[in-house]
Amino acid sequence: MGTLKKELRTVKFEEMRNKTFGVVRVVEKLCELCGKPLYTEERRVKAIQISSYKDYDNLMIRARAHDSVKVDLERNEIYLFDHDYPGDVHPACIEEYSKR
Ligand SMILES: [Zn+2]
Repeated sequence: MGTLKKELRTVKFEEMRNKTFGVVRVVEKLCELCGKPLYTEERRVKAIQISSYKDYDNLMIRARAHDSVKVDLERNEIYLFDHDYPGDVHPACIEEYSKR
């Protein structure tokens, strides 16, 4: 059975209620030249417990700070997606740009 990740904004409070979710922050490191991914970093951060509507609402507010947030309701996992420019480039991009 494959994992089914849904966009957080499509997940209702009732689906998350009385559960504890593991939280994984996924940061896509992008090439300075082409803007495409170089590699991805995943880091587990503090788990979130959704007991009350207030917890759910707080999560929705927190989600706005990220590029996107997805929830896996089978595994009880939340994924916070972001991107970053680490000041690195693809070797092929350097070659491509040095030709110009
Ligand atoms: Zn590149």
